[in-house]
Amino acid sequence: MIKIRHLQKSFGQVQVLKDISTEIRKGECVCVIGPSGSGKSTFLRCINLLEQPDGGSIEVDGRDILDSGLKIDDYRKEVGMVFQHFNLFPNMTVKRNIMLAPMRVLGLSEEESSGKALKLLRQVGLESKADTYPNKLSGGQKQRVAIARALAMNPKVLLFDEPTSALDPEMVGEVLHVMKELAEGGMTMIVVTHEMGFAREVSDRVLFIDHGVILEDRPPRELFGRPENERTKEFLAKIL
Ligand code: ADP
Ligand code: MG
Repeated sequence: MIKIRHLQKSFGQVQVLKDISTEIRKGECVCVIGPSGSGKSTFLRCINLLEQPDGGSIEVDGRDILDSGLKIDDYRKEVGMVFQHFNLFPNMTVKRNIMLAPMRVLGLSEEESSGKALKLLRQVGLESKADTYPNKLSGGQKQRVAIARALAMNPKVLLFDEPTSALDPEMVGEVLHVMKELAEGGMTMIVVTHEMGFAREVSDRVLFIDHGVILEDRPPRELFGRPENERTKEFLAKIL
């Protein structure tokens, strides 16, 4: 589904991504771990073209997304993103938050998008909150709405950038549970996370990124069981 070759990205003099190559297969859940500032967010932001890479290639579903002929707006519909901060629209109900993009961007009718929003809210366990405003929700509930909103565009791939890092500890589990169900349902996902339990239990592969380089790209059992790289060992010792 995603083929990345020799991806590079610098900000000014600082090379943040150095020669990143990897592939994500359809239906895979890949976790990305690594120290703060190592380039994890930049990696995701290059995949959905929130940042323009400086070098290398990214193919998504058979298309070169760095081709100058790519229609970026069409491409972005195919790649959903869930952020640490949920970015819900405060002046709209939960259901309206989810309906907005399908109506505006996909051209769905009011009824179609409403039906879809309710179905997605059921999927994330929040059907009863359809007419509630975001400020009445807990952090975990807001993040589940944000996931439903991303799903409403029928993305081919979902990118998560530390989706539980801003949550109180007791709300982390409900969000990870929704993500686990998505992964089990066959969604192609790339998840930047510090939740090693999730990475271990749910992901097919874990990428360890440090200083803009993928130091390990292995199934979680191998990576957590016998990390090969010294820097991976150090990182895991600090975080586990
Ligand atoms: P991570 O998500 O792993 O913590 P980031 O990808 O956010 O790391 O950042 C990697 C490095 O790139 C950091 O040093 C950060 O300061 C820098 N960086 C990220 N985005 C920008 C930007 N828009 N402009 C300048 N520097 C940036
Ligand atoms: Mg980050």
